[in-house]
Formats: sequence, C-alpha cells, structure tokens
Amino acid sequence: MATVIHGTTVVTAGPDDAVHHDAAIAIEGGRIAAIGPSREIRARFPDAEAVDGRDRAVLPGFANVHTHLGLTLARGVYEDLSPPHKPPFCGGLAPIPLPKLSAEENAVMCQLGALEAIRSGTTLVLEDGVDIASYAPQMAATGLRMVLAERAWDRAGAGIGDPAPFEVSERLADEGFERIARLHATWHGAAEGRITVGVAAWAPDMCSPALLRRLRDLQQKLDTLCTIHLNQIWGEVAAVQAQRDGMLPTEYLASLDFLHDRLVAAHCRCMAHREEKLLGRARTSVAFNSAIAARRGLSPRISALEAEGCNIAMGSDNMAEDMVEVMRTGLFMERIRREDGRNPTPEQALGWATRNGYRACGVPDGGWLAPGNRADLIMIRTDRPHLVPLMRLVSTFVHQGQAADVEAVMVDGSWVMRDGVVRTMDEAAIVRDADRIARRAWARLFAERPDIEVPPGFAPAP
Ligand SMILES: [Zn+2]
Repeated sequence: MATVIHGTTVVTAGPDDAVHHDAAIAIEGGRIAAIGPSREIRARFPDAEAVDGRDRAVLPGFANVHTHLGLTLARGVYEDLSPPHKPPFCGGLAPIPLPKLSAEENAVMCQLGALEAIRSGTTLVLEDGVDIASYAPQMAATGLRMVLAERAWDRAGAGIGDPAPFEVSERLADEGFERIARLHATWHGAAEGRITVGVAAWAPDMCSPALLRRLRDLQQKLDTLCTIHLNQIWGEVAAVQAQRDGMLPTEYLASLDFLHDRLVAAHCRCMAHREEKLLGRARTSVAFNSAIAARRGLSPRISALEAEGCNIAMGSDNMAEDMVEVMRTGLFMERIRREDGRNPTPEQALGWATRNGYRACGVPDGGWLAPGNRADLIMIRTDRPHLVPLMRLVSTFVHQGQAADVEAVMVDGSWVMRDGVVRTMDEAAIVRDADRIARRAWARLFAERPDIEVPPGFAPAP
C-alpha cells in the first residue's frame, strides 16, 4: 500500500538542494513514487494512506558513516580523556580500559545506541565493530539500514598511537578474517538487502602490510566496502612513521593500493596536505566525525579534502549517535577553522550528513529525496519555538534544529518511528537495562582497579 505525506515541506537534499513548499511525497514499495504539489499527488494516489504533514517537514534520513554503537558504554567517561597531541605518546584513545560486558549486555548497549540514532533521524548506520555477529540479530531488528563492518588487525598488545614496536600476531589476523567470513555468510544482504557486510581495518598502526593486502583482496572478492580509522591522532602518525620508514599513515595505505572509492576513511585529522591529495585522487570517502573531533580538540581540513576530490560524509564515532549535533558541529567547526562565517553553507552540511553518507556506503539512490530513490526519510515537527519563523527550513534546521524535533523515521518505506514512538524496540526497557548494565560494569572496574582514578562526579552503582 502507498503512503502519501501531504500538506508539508519536502527538503530533497538532492544535488540542486530543491525545497518543495505545500507539497506531498508518495511512497510505494519502499521507494519514493512522486514528489509534487499536494493536490496533484493526492489525486494520483487516491487509495494511499494519507499522512497529514502540516507543521511538519520531510527530509532524507541521516547517514552515520562511522560509529561504534556499543561505546555508549563509555558515555560520561571517555569524552574528557583524549590522548595527548604531542609526545610523549602513550597509546590508546583513553587511559582507562573499558569494563568487560557479556555479549548480551553489549547487545543492549548497541540497542541503546540504535535508539538514539533513530531518535535523531538516522536511517543508515555504518557500524565498525568486533564480533558484530553477537549483536547483529538485534541490529537487524532495529529497522535501520546498516553496513556492518567487522574489524581486523594483527598488531598484538597495543592500541592506536602506541610507540612500542609492532609485534605481528598471525592469530589475531586469522581471527579477524574468520569473524568477517562468518558475519558475511550470515548477514550480507539480510532483511531484503537492508543489512550489508563490509570489512574494516582498525588503523594503519595496528595493521601490517600483509594484513592490509589480504583485507584489500577480500574486500574485492566480496565486492563490498571497506573502512579504516585514518590519521586519527598524532600518536598514530608518529607510530606509523616509526614502523614504516618515515611514511605518513595515508602514504602507507597508498603504497599498498588501499585507497579507493569504496573506502570510508574515518577522521583524517592529523594529516599533511600530500596525504589529502592522495585521498582525493583515490576518490575516497571521508567520515567527518565532527563532534568527537571537537571533543578531542582536533579538526580535519574538510575544505582541503573536499577540494582534492574526497566525498565528505559524517559520523558520530564514540559515545553519541546524535546526527543533528554532528551536522551542526561540522558546520561550526569548519567555519571556525576557515575563519569564514558563510561557508560551509547549511545546504552543504546537510548534504554531507545525508546524500554523501549514502553514497559513501554504496547506496547512491538514498539519502536524498527524488522519485525512484529509496524511501529512507524523516519527518520533523516545525511548530517549535526554536524553528519559527520558518522561512529557510534547511538553514533553520541545521542551525537551530534538535534531535527531539524528529517525530517519525522511515526506512525502506517502513515506519521505524512514528508519532514520536520507536516501533521496533522496547525503548523503556532498553534505557533502564543499559543504565544498570553500564553503571554496574564501571563500578566493578573501579572496585577491581584501585589504581584507576574515578572520574569526578561518578554516581554510585544502582
Ligand atoms: Zn571510531
């Protein structure tokens, strides 16, 4: 059955940035069937379910092209513990370890992340994780479109940015490839194609040349996309230079033919201009993870990456899934960095967070609203004190919008959230359980490890 959302504003986020006022959008069979004047579209689809779109706007859903859903576990702890930007480098992204969770507990933390993603208008998530098979059933059930990128690496006993020598572990490599094979066999193309499986290399200083070559071969064989953390922190750059005869991380990848247009390179912050050129020449997609970048006090040079030919998309990375915040922080960060109060434009920021993200994930017919494209969209309420007067909707939403404005989310033509209610998960139970699981796990870690300083204001476990 078709659905027509009428009497509304339709923001296409297409290449021409068209906005249709007093318009309707028709959805049929998981695709957008038509966009046009309300009266005309209603007449064309007389039997469709009619959804009143007054005081609402319809936009494409957001694509979060770099996240780790289960790291909601570290919310309130890791945001304020970034590694140093100058030597001495210590290794790892946080000075304290994550508490251990059971697979069931981790799946709940991932569901919590998915709930936040849906509530902030996300329709596509590229999840980079380890042992994703253990929570893939719950992720498929969220109704979100997902690329599940299982991670491989072969450096033993170290984390990103560790100055210690590179110790290769073939066991680690084999385990990673086994996990990828298992996930791909079960989940690639699942849920009528809503779930696909990609491959992930952890980071340049965590992967030997042999591992990266093997992963590139596998990616081509599986005909899927690849992702990697790249030039994330200065410690990583120093580590790669020490390990690979002075090469910079992106040069190291280029030397192994690891840069291409089906690679999503996350971060790209601590980067020399010659690396930006290499990425651009390969037409690589960049995940601009603006909110975590701001929290870390680092910034990628988005204008340079874009000018060199990269496809700029956006991600939330750790501890947060709010793409409304990511989009706005990206616009703010780039304006500050460029010392330019006009650029990027809100239309550009919206395109990064939607259309470009879909393109990065190999779904060029999603992330923008046009007849024939996938019906992955959101409805926001516009009758809000912070959104009126409503004259330039894209500008107003990018500058002033909130995740809480998102009232409905549709993926593949199915409502994942409607009238403010997430239909695919028991939200109250997940919020309650995730809070208890995480707080108990951290309290246990701090009790077992008195050498770790408890962060200020830490609440006692329930
Ligand atoms: Zn990450």
